[in-house]
Amino acid sequence: MSSDAAVRRGQLFIVSAPSGAGKTTLVERLVEQVPHLRMSRSYTSRPARDGETNGVDYNFVTRQRFETMVAAGDFLEWADVFGNLYGTCASDTERLLADGSDVVLVIDVQGARQVRQLRPGATTVFVMPPSFPILEQRLRGRSKDSEAAIVRRLAVAREEVASFTEYDYIVVNDELTAAVDRLRGIILAERCRIDCMRREAEGIVKTFC
Ligand code: 5GP
Repeated sequence: MSSDAAVRRGQLFIVSAPSGAGKTTLVERLVEQVPHLRMSRSYTSRPARDGETNGVDYNFVTRQRFETMVAAGDFLEWADVFGNLYGTCASDTERLLADGSDVVLVIDVQGARQVRQLRPGATTVFVMPPSFPILEQRLRGRSKDSEAAIVRRLAVAREEVASFTEYDYIVVNDELTAAVDRLRGIILAERCRIDCMRREAEGIVKTFC
């Protein structure tokens, strides 16, 4: 990247997918491969699962603390997902963007709708499993959840996939490496848009004078 890029404001990306579609693994791989791309760390009122760490996977907070943050207007977006509250801290996101990093929010369909209203320039990607039976197989294979939780997640997934038309891009997570490649392609193409490249291009044009 040129020295100009250090002061350029970052771009905002949203990735949504039904639970079990593999979006977290996809986005983790993506940020490993793409420089200057950061994944936002959400706040949640849900308890940490085995193997999850506070400040790494999420900022785990009590429901009361979460509600205080909502009242203080701390969230860019927030939503109730499966009975727990999840939200993106506005100032954390702003800090990353102001530093010139591109930021990916891995959030549900409700949260994506809120961010689209506030930040119409955000690029939105919907990750889909190849089919309902494959999603069901993945959720059951994960086997961390109770049968009731799986049935609930599948019911929500049915509603969520119907929202795919609200998104700019669709990535089918049929095979991890190929799906990461397509996501990376989206990020790199968005970085080449005229709105993003104008200053750098103007600098180049000046060298022709
Ligand atoms: P999980 O509890 O399995 O980590 O996440 C459950 C759902 O909450 C997923 O669909 C995930 O994308 C969504 N989610 C995670 N963080 C946020 C957030 O900050 N905002 C919103 N709206 N959804 C989130």
